[in-house]
Amino acid sequence: MWGKNKLRYIDRKSWNGHTHSEFCPHGSGEKTELFIERAIQCGFRTYSITEHFPLPDVFYSHPVGSRHAIYTAAMFYDELPKYFEMMNYLKEKYKDQIQILVGFEFDYIEKYRDWYAEQFRKFHSQIDDAILSIHFLPTQNGLRAVDDSIIDFKSGVLEHCGSPLGVAKTYLKTVNDALDWRTRYKPFRYGHIMLYRKWRNLFPNNEPWEDNQTRNTMNRILTKIANQNLFLDCNMAGLYRKTETESSPNEKWLTAAQKIGIPLVYGSDAHKVRDVSQGFNTYLENRYYKS
Ligand SMILES: [Zn+2]
Ligand SMILES: [Zn+2]
Repeated sequence: MWGKNKLRYIDRKSWNGHTHSEFCPHGSGEKTELFIERAIQCGFRTYSITEHFPLPDVFYSHPVGSRHAIYTAAMFYDELPKYFEMMNYLKEKYKDQIQILVGFEFDYIEKYRDWYAEQFRKFHSQIDDAILSIHFLPTQNGLRAVDDSIIDFKSGVLEHCGSPLGVAKTYLKTVNDALDWRTRYKPFRYGHIMLYRKWRNLFPNNEPWEDNQTRNTMNRILTKIANQNLFLDCNMAGLYRKTETESSPNEKWLTAAQKIGIPLVYGSDAHKVRDVSQGFNTYLENRYYKS
């Protein structure tokens, strides 16, 4: 895995740091090559392919909630050799036009920490770049997805946490736990840290999603990211979702992160070719590359 200093040296005005590939079961299935060609056309010079890393076998043993959320979360473990083979082939093929960083978006799931630590050890030397994200939260019945559908969100995570504010608290506490997790070869960038707001527009406009406690936790999270010289995914996918219409983290917190010197890495989080540069104009206009 590239070191923090080497990553910091990448020009953030032309880096797409969060994208998916044809290996994503909830993506469009379009050829990864087409994503890359689109990225070249859009003017990107560095392009991270951060496919969802496979989940451990035990994740599938007692599935609860949306089956779609479980079975399309990530590619299966036995597909990894093919993934590396194809991504490395494309990296080489396009090396004169764009710098491709091959990597993963890993999930942070507390009960699987040891398994993930083992995966980091196993794969760090084959990875250029990686993101650590939270898509699942533990409930009394098992892991439930945050981002699969509003129905699944309401019956799982929301039901467990009691309210949108409760979800915010649980999600941010989990981000904070991920930061406190000491393990070797942990990813340096934190993915869409406000994903829990994905469905916010489907709730009453006066529904509270933050209070003093969540603001304090956010400040603690950002301070830790800054102190550990880590990076933040400036994830623009939500800007175009009718249910969300904001980046993750949102403007207020991107500005706060920038103020304390956290490098914000543009992430289109593209799951289809036409989304390769979504929100990149907003990233550039707001000068989020500066910090
Ligand atoms: Zn995805
Ligand atoms: Zn993600």
